[in-house]
Amino acid sequence: MSENATFPGDKIASIEEYEAGHNAFDDGDMVRAAAIGEKDIDKTSRTVSVKHPKLLSIPKVGDIIIGTVAAVMSSMIAVSIDYINGKPTTSKVECICGTRNLRIRNVALVNDIVTLKILNHLNGTIHAGISEPNLGILFTKCRKCGSKVIPMRDAIKCTECGWIDERKLSANFGNSDFVNLRV
Ligand SMILES: [Zn+2]
Repeated sequence: MSENATFPGDKIASIEEYEAGHNAFDDGDMVRAAAIGEKDIDKTSRTVSVKHPKLLSIPKVGDIIIGTVAAVMSSMIAVSIDYINGKPTTSKVECICGTRNLRIRNVALVNDIVTLKILNHLNGTIHAGISEPNLGILFTKCRKCGSKVIPMRDAIKCTECGWIDERKLSANFGNSDFVNLRV
């Protein structure tokens, strides 16, 4: 963190200079931080705020994220982001990923774990891609019975009921390090 880093209770300005803004309060003498974050002075409105780190955990274009599939639609999936470039995030930002061009019947299921690359931010929505070999599903289950599946070329097969299904698998599918990371 920079020299502007704050902890709750830290003095961040005098009330003669600034009013308390977002994530800040005044104790009658000083403006103090109400949250961990970064001091943000607005000289125009004469307020001092604290930018919470949650606001900083928005993935940037090119970042690799790992997330949980929150919804599956006909031409896209919505993913709740758990890791950005390998670092855990609790902000639960969602991104969407177009799946129409993959020509796979069940690209992903709800609650699958997927790794994606951030492509762009458009109209307040974060768009991600899945087409590169390392991108795709890291963990999934059988759609019929919920059991463990094993990869078979581009498909997966259930170890219990034998159901064969399609997914866009990551080259890292089945990587046990990743499973340990999740538990
Ligand atoms: Zn099964």
